[in-house]
Amino acid sequence: MVSAAAPFAGQSRPMDVAFENRKLEKRLCRLVGQAIDDYRMIEDGDRVMVCLSGGKDSYSLLDILMRLQRRAPARFELIAVNLDQRQPGFPADVLPNYLRTLGIPFHIETQDTYSIVKKVIPEGKTMCSLCSRLRRGILYRVARELGATKIALGHHRDDILQTLLLNMFFGAKLKGMPPKLVSDNGEHVVIRPLAYVPEKDLIRWAQVRAFPIIPCNLCGSQQHLQRKQVGDLLREWDKRFPGRVDNMLKALQNVVPSHLMDRGLYDFAGVRASGRPQADGDLAFDEEELPAAAALAADEDAAPRHGAATRRVFALTPEED
Ligand code: SF4
Repeated sequence: MVSAAAPFAGQSRPMDVAFENRKLEKRLCRLVGQAIDDYRMIEDGDRVMVCLSGGKDSYSLLDILMRLQRRAPARFELIAVNLDQRQPGFPADVLPNYLRTLGIPFHIETQDTYSIVKKVIPEGKTMCSLCSRLRRGILYRVARELGATKIALGHHRDDILQTLLLNMFFGAKLKGMPPKLVSDNGEHVVIRPLAYVPEKDLIRWAQVRAFPIIPCNLCGSQQHLQRKQVGDLLREWDKRFPGRVDNMLKALQNVVPSHLMDRGLYDFAGVRASGRPQADGDLAFDEEELPAAAALAADEDAAPRHGAATRRVFALTPEED
């Protein structure tokens, strides 16, 4: 159960607060359950290593997975893992204390990558690339040692869309962040169960649950400026044009290769007139009629155009929702 002790701004009546909190909890469980089902992220017998950084996203990930674990028919284990990189001022007792109160298995891996990064990277240069490479290698090793079959990360909808835009703007690639992938060393399956969850819901959930957040500026690194700008852009769109950001995520599930320009993805050279009318054929000369953004976004159950129908194991049924 969610307590009514954490009112949102502008709300004061405990009944309203409890109702809103309960709605938020259901929405988070529904979105995470749906993503897990859609991409078969977790299956019977899995041992899922949940990477915890001490930020709102990974706390929420663990919290929601524990809720789904209690009621999903699939049997799976969760083990929380934090990598203490020995950044100055890192409060090493916060996560273990929190995890003990949850009563779930956990492992704290302590590796002084901070000193390595400081030694190798010249003062004033960004440390993130080497830091995250070292972190990745250590987490893969820990996953192997713990016998984890999946590694769960706390990236959410807005992280995915920011990555999509950054790759377009700066990398000249149409490439987001996959909800499920094989790790670069080929050994692990990495999953992102928060793939459908908007960041604003995670911010609220962290307040509701009063997670003991560890500030993310301990290493003194500045947030990637371009990522921040793109994040601001998405937040602004979300405020001014409700539905637009949701539709961007849906668009990633509705790709039409024949209407992009990647010759590796679609055989443009082989296009020939068939002489037969095509019901969903392209009008070519006409401007495409666009549906209203809000109308599409409201259709939450709209199935992706491609891909197999999903087996519902983790998602709430409409009666439960
Ligand atoms: S922000 Fe700090 S902890 Fe995170 S990747 Fe960069 S250097 Fe590492």
